[in-house]
Amino acid sequence: MKEKSIFILVIFVPVLEPFIYLWKLKVMHSTQLYAWRALWDKIATKQNLHKRGVVFRDTLCVLCGREEESTSHILITCNVSKAVWNMCDNWLRVNFMHHSVLTNHFEEFPCLFFNKEANSLWKRLWVLVLWFIWKHRNNVIFNQTKMDAKEILTMAQIQYWAWMKHKVRKVNFSFFWLDPISLYLH
Ligand SMILES: [Zn+2]
Repeated sequence: MKEKSIFILVIFVPVLEPFIYLWKLKVMHSTQLYAWRALWDKIATKQNLHKRGVVFRDTLCVLCGREEESTSHILITCNVSKAVWNMCDNWLRVNFMHHSVLTNHFEEFPCLFFNKEANSLWKRLWVLVLWFIWKHRNNVIFNQTKMDAKEILTMAQIQYWAWMKHKVRKVNFSFFWLDPISLYLH
């Protein structure tokens, strides 16, 4: 019995790590809850709704129309979301390995060599980018409005800036936009 418990612990602790990490982040509760549900693959994508018996004409992604709308597709591997993450890389000036599994994507964003505080700050950015990609997807469906990748990222950046301005001391506006990583290198 004891051995079984240890086995279960060994199997599940590494898997639960990103969830625990996410829950410790101090971000707007609604975005955190959304990211939490996305990591558990519980958001209302066409694929997930279809599994629950909702009937659609097709389950294709509403952004590209080429692949099935799964959680990982709509948030990271779709051409639109991929373009947002690539622009985010350019902004941060990092070459981030984009995993196609959402939990891995979260864990490795953006770089592990930054200090703990910096990592924690950039994980908040990850949550916001994810949130705005999903908001964009919903706007396409329900409001027939479209934004490009740059506009989606800008929404996340503005929200992130507003959060940092209130929560983090001594954040220089120019550095934030032009060289955000430099804020955390010293
Ligand atoms: Zn797509």
